Amino acid sequence: MKRFLGVLVLSLSLLLFGCSAETEGEKEGVVVATTGQIADAIKEISGDHLKVTALMGPGVDPHLYKATQSDLSKLDKAEVIFYNGLHLEGQMLDIFEQMSKSKTVLAVGEKLDKKDLLASDDDAMLHDPHIWFDIELWKGVVQAIGDKLQEEYPQFKDDFATNEEAYLKKLDELKTSAKDRVNEIQEKQRILVTAHDAFNYFGRSQGFEVRGLQGLSTDSEYGVKDVQEMVDFLVANKIKAIFIESSVSDKAMKAVIEGAKEKGHDIVIGGELFSDAMGAEGTTEGTYIGMYQHNIDTIVDALK
Ligand SMILES: [Zn+2]
Repeated sequence: MKRFLGVLVLSLSLLLFGCSAETEGEKEGVVVATTGQIADAIKEISGDHLKVTALMGPGVDPHLYKATQSDLSKLDKAEVIFYNGLHLEGQMLDIFEQMSKSKTVLAVGEKLDKKDLLASDDDAMLHDPHIWFDIELWKGVVQAIGDKLQEEYPQFKDDFATNEEAYLKKLDELKTSAKDRVNEIQEKQRILVTAHDAFNYFGRSQGFEVRGLQGLSTDSEYGVKDVQEMVDFLVANKIKAIFIESSVSDKAMKAVIEGAKEKGHDIVIGGELFSDAMGAEGTTEGTYIGMYQHNIDTIVDALK
């Protein structure tokens, strides 16, 4: 009997210890973001304190992206989930809804003031989700991420605040250097033609007229008429370069170049822009600032 009691006490204390370790233990810092842009902002703010994963890598199109089994397991293990929102991740909304029942899930784009957002061309009730191309808006996103991280991981509050401030300063510097480069192009040459409508915020903040062959989302099909209209626009405005995107097929843009050629107007591909996805991890273009700089340099070099 004594021996039985001993075992019982031992297992009870193990049980209690196990429980208290679980309820009182600090969180492990596992944070998941959908896009590379968001993950980059989280990394800038968190430094080494958190384990940050992006579900969508280089070249991935977020409009069409469906979560894989491995994504679901990452989302399941995450303590906090950040996504863009404003219908960017159109195929994942049910998952976020489900996950938000058991953990913090934040749509960073929804934290911005609606009056600062552009309307969607496709649906007047919706907003254009490509908010990262307006540096000022993106600073708002960085602040929203910082606030949430401080709330979720108060033990790192001071470090997060210091890092956030330094990063916001870098974004201000990016804003200034981008403006300087854009000023190298004559105003009437500031027309940006791309595969899909990812650059409306870019156009608004940098003073470009922007045309995309496809709509705001890559899931809208383009037709012969769209190609023809684009060709007419390019010829009429004597545009010399158009741009392909790393996350969208360049087939349509090649049809446009072909069409313009038939009308005696030569257009070149000015280069590849990062629109909805960033460059490879570990490269300069794999960061938000590097990606933005790449786009500015590519656009200005081709159009000036
Ligand atoms: Zn897009």
